Amino acid sequence: MEDIVARKFTQVFTQQAPLPAESMQAAMSVLESGRLHRYNLLPGETGEVAALEAEYRDWQGSAYCLALTSGGQALQIAMRACGVTPGDVVLTNAFTLAPVPGAIAAAGGRAALVEITEDLRLDLGDLGEKIAATGARFLLLSHMRGHLCDMEALMRICDRAGVTVIEDCAHTMGARWNGRRSGNFGKAACFSTQTYKHMNSGEGGFLTTDDAGIAARATILSGSYMLYERHGAGPAPEAFAETRYQMPNCSARMDSLRAAILRPQLARLDGSISAWNALYAVTDRGLAASNRIRTITRPAAETPVGSSIQFRLPGFSAAQCEAVLAAADARGVELKWFGAAEPRGFTSNHQSWRYMDRHALPHTDRVLSALFDMRLPLPFSEQDCAFVAELICEAVDEVAS
Ligand SMILES: *Cc1c(COP(=O)(O)O)cnc(C)c1O
Repeated sequence: MEDIVARKFTQVFTQQAPLPAESMQAAMSVLESGRLHRYNLLPGETGEVAALEAEYRDWQGSAYCLALTSGGQALQIAMRACGVTPGDVVLTNAFTLAPVPGAIAAAGGRAALVEITEDLRLDLGDLGEKIAATGARFLLLSHMRGHLCDMEALMRICDRAGVTVIEDCAHTMGARWNGRRSGNFGKAACFSTQTYKHMNSGEGGFLTTDDAGIAARATILSGSYMLYERHGAGPAPEAFAETRYQMPNCSARMDSLRAAILRPQLARLDGSISAWNALYAVTDRGLAASNRIRTITRPAAETPVGSSIQFRLPGFSAAQCEAVLAAADARGVELKWFGAAEPRGFTSNHQSWRYMDRHALPHTDRVLSALFDMRLPLPFSEQDCAFVAELICEAVDEVAS
């Protein structure tokens, strides 16, 4: 007899919200002008990129902001601007996305991976041990999937050990810890406007910092052709006096077209954040109804942005996890699983990053072996999310029984 699944979700998980009409108009103006490069300005003109930098600086509450081609480039440039040189050990989360170890490798760093907890946050006990064992002076802290660790405790550990913290805020643009914005704890922070992040320019990124020296070095590294005085949220010209001779050009500038489509999105970002958190709350409640599913505990100090959701299925074997993926897929629900032996799509794990030193990470491996992940696209309604959560519970029950 054929297995018939009666209930199915029919929307697409890679669906995107259309860009605001203002983004389209602004893009048309840039295209009409033909001046797409950030430094191709008329006398007295600010330009879209400089305007965006000033607006993001003000929204973030940092002293400086630099717009770049991608979040990955922002990470690499932030590390170099903070003083990472070839051969330096850079600590980072064992659970993160491939651009993070990729940026460390590109900066010539040697990645040392730190274990995560069951709630997907950096394990501060292991961090302390790895600082002591490696003598590392840098931590590239990845707030993977928006889960912030105890930021005050983390900064105490790193400040005491003289470790410079660079925050990867690709999933925490707009999130807060005890009311303070993610990205405003470390020396520098990096954001992504890649199509699936909190603002969408296809590719793109920001680097923010309160340190004039870091901002100046990052600006020259980004490829400013000595036109740094045309930036919108950079330090005073004096900050470039020596730096302009010291830093190589890595050509990672944002262009006017992308900046033009981002500015109207930034003006709407707080609304998007509320909408994501409403979808997250409904989905999380639905998943928590199953006694087989472990949702991720969110600390009271955290104000997250729920643009995706994760859950664990403790005790499920690899074969059962594969079966859950298939049972969800049969219901039209696109899940990702971080425990697969081979990297797939966006879910590679540290076992696949063979260009770097291998690490024994038993705790992280155990967590990842039964960790699932799902995007929450803004075009979905709360009813859609409630239905999707029901379908996931059904799929899990089908596999377990
Ligand atoms: C997307 C992402 C990045 C980098 O972003 P790109 O703009 O795609 O280079 C960094 N860290 C994490 C965790 C990400 O998901």
